[in-house]
Amino acid sequence: MSDCLFCKIVAKEIPADVVLETDRALAFRDINPQAPTHVLVVPKEHFQDAAALAAADDGWADAVLQAGQAVAEQEGVAEVGYRMVFNTGPAAGQTVFHVHLHLLGGRNLTWPPG
Ligand code: 5GP
Ligand code: ZN
Repeated sequence: MSDCLFCKIVAKEIPADVVLETDRALAFRDINPQAPTHVLVVPKEHFQDAAALAAADDGWADAVLQAGQAVAEQEGVAEVGYRMVFNTGPAAGQTVFHVHLHLLGGRNLTWPPG
């Protein structure tokens, strides 16, 4: 999608602090981190939200989840614990409509989230 921020990051038209790239997914640090580790994992194809990603065939959801787990291991939070979040829709505060998995870790995370 030509007017999508995360499509532009995937296309390297907008810079990002990339921590992992696979054939299907790109992971980069959130510009406004909410935890010591706060990485966004996006599919390289445009899906607007988690519902669209879940409905996609061909393993796109797997690719995002597996990349998220790889980042957790790479960031050193896999053992102690971390959180994966998809904010989906306005009530959940989704602001960028290219689906992204938030990987949060590196501190004790409160529950429930706000
Ligand atoms: P949402 O609220 O849609 O779940 O999350 C969007 C996330 O994208 C926010 O955490 C926000 O800080 C992050 N973000 C917004 N614009 C940019 C950007 O240009 N670069 C990066 N790396 N993160 C961004
Ligand atoms: Zn997009």
